[in-house]
Amino acid sequence: MGEGPAAARLPVHPDTQGSGRGLEVIGAEYTQEQIAVGEWVRRLAANSARGWKAFYHTTEWQRARGKALKRDHGMCQRCRREGWYTKATTVHHLKHLRDAPELALTMENLESLCAACHEREHPERHRRRIANELIPERW
Ligand SMILES: [Zn+2]
Ligand SMILES: [Zn+2]
Repeated sequence: MGEGPAAARLPVHPDTQGSGRGLEVIGAEYTQEQIAVGEWVRRLAANSARGWKAFYHTTEWQRARGKALKRDHGMCQRCRREGWYTKATTVHHLKHLRDAPELALTMENLESLCAACHEREHPERHRRRIANELIPERW
């Protein structure tokens, strides 16, 4: 399973690139591999005390995460679009894991983010964590 064919299968419309909206289209045409990944992730979540978090402890995720960070040169992609160079600490699922476990390992669904940008993507959780990370205010 190389990087090339998987990337070629999922073109992202330039108008929607990075917004996550272009990924709506993918929903209708998951590959066999993505469907298998989706079943695997759902099963992991159902059978583990950690629930959905169990996925983040798998070597499959560690590998996909490493690939995404390498592709993004270890830089936060949101900050980069605003002209900042910030080290990424997290790889975020544009379509959240629970909503589209089929895309859990799909490179086009992954985005390297810094802690501050990632917090902004998940306003529903961890207000607490951001206070502990001593993120310098830059704006
Ligand atoms: Zn950022
Ligand atoms: Zn996230």
